[in-house]
Amino acid sequence: MSFESLGLLPELLRAIADQGYTEPTPIQLKAIPPVLARHDMMACAQTGTGKTAGFALPILQLLAPQQSSSPSPARHPIRALMLTPTRELAAQVEENVRAYAKYMSLRSAVVFGGVDIDPQIKALRAGVEILVATPGRLLDHVQQKTVNLSRVEILVLDEADRMLDMGFMPDIKRILSLLPAERQSLLFSATFSEDIKRLANQMLRTPVSIEVARRNAPADLVTHRMFEVDSEHKGALLAHLIKSRDMQQVLVFVRTKRDANRLMRELQRDGVPATAIHSDRTQGERMQALEEFKNGTMKVMVATDIAARGLDIEQLPFVINYELPYAAEDYIHRIGRTGRAGSPGEAISLVCGEEKRMLDDIERELKRKLERLPMPELATGRSRPPRHHEERSSSSEHHAPRSTARPAPARTAPVAVDGGFDFNKPYEPKAAPSSDADARAKIPLRPTMRRQTAALLGGLAKKPEL
Ligand code: AMP
Repeated sequence: MSFESLGLLPELLRAIADQGYTEPTPIQLKAIPPVLARHDMMACAQTGTGKTAGFALPILQLLAPQQSSSPSPARHPIRALMLTPTRELAAQVEENVRAYAKYMSLRSAVVFGGVDIDPQIKALRAGVEILVATPGRLLDHVQQKTVNLSRVEILVLDEADRMLDMGFMPDIKRILSLLPAERQSLLFSATFSEDIKRLANQMLRTPVSIEVARRNAPADLVTHRMFEVDSEHKGALLAHLIKSRDMQQVLVFVRTKRDANRLMRELQRDGVPATAIHSDRTQGERMQALEEFKNGTMKVMVATDIAARGLDIEQLPFVINYELPYAAEDYIHRIGRTGRAGSPGEAISLVCGEEKRMLDDIERELKRKLERLPMPELATGRSRPPRHHEERSSSSEHHAPRSTARPAPARTAPVAVDGGFDFNKPYEPKAAPSSDADARAKIPLRPTMRRQTAALLGGLAKKPEL
């Protein structure tokens, strides 16, 4: 089915073609007709499914009859309000809206916290039909009387489950109370929890419910692979992977912002153009990092889970988990950055002994085993990363087993796994981790990062990132 057959306006079809979209994604096929028919909607869909266009395109079409080329602000009241949990997502949604509206006389703006409020006030004063906002900053504008929500006809709550997770419920209720009762409301959420159902009951009127398969629960498009590697050799392995496979765009995940900075510097020292995105960086620095990563100036972006939430990077081919996340669901979010909109992606995890428990959780959540890859020979000047049993059996810093006997001659056959993986380097096959090592590797899991670091973006007080 084509975009044309969905009955979209020619100016929207032109903008869609400019974006290079050839056919609608499943969520777009399901969402566009009911939104055009002015139904309320409850949509279960994750970021990466094309949901933004799923709501933005029909909304633009609904607003089209009242387009005005008049410069008067009075002719451009806010008619669609789109709320998102994070500033990055807000910026991306508005970027998309702007792209889809490029052949129309509809104006959009985005407001989020952590940046100067004055330019936002100026944009709002000039008049915009579509406002994308994070809840906290929107309420700042309400308080300062710099925004008028009395003409809103369409409301979108994007990633509603995350908004609730991040403690935005009171803000959302407050915002709902400021909107005209007579309106169309759309709620997008990756999950259908009881809280979401309650919220849906409060804000939706006889909604159409739509759902698309969780794109990256056992994602067909994403290959999940891993190396077992001692933590001290992860850096060398990462640099090796990037260089030997000539990776041009890699999102690398770590758990803490300190690790993000350290790894970024390590990669830069290794000659890999790298940047980092985490909550200690200013909004400007984050935007710049994202831009440089998107435009290819930086091959690698090192990110914490929080900073990467909601990032939209088109056709990201690789996600590397330098460290596994404490919560298995964060693994799902991480790999949701690749394999988007039909293009294949690869998730590679560098797993050390201490992370065995997290790996078990992730494999249980995914309902599949990550494919174990054999360790390549690393040109680090340091010894080859140890196998698990070596690492565990030696108390010295050096991995002794090699000195006790002549090493077996390296096999020279290239390592080719599933068609794509060819280090073309000698390697030694790896032993499976011993159950002893497994037992020692068990460490208590910390609570999920999400809850610990709830209110982090979107203008809320900054909490420390792990
Ligand atoms: P979203 O789920 O809205 O974050 O979209 C994920 C990515 O898919 C974005 O980079 C969009 O630009 C892209 N996208 C959205 N719709 C389509 C489509 N019909 N065909 C190809 N790519 C799309």
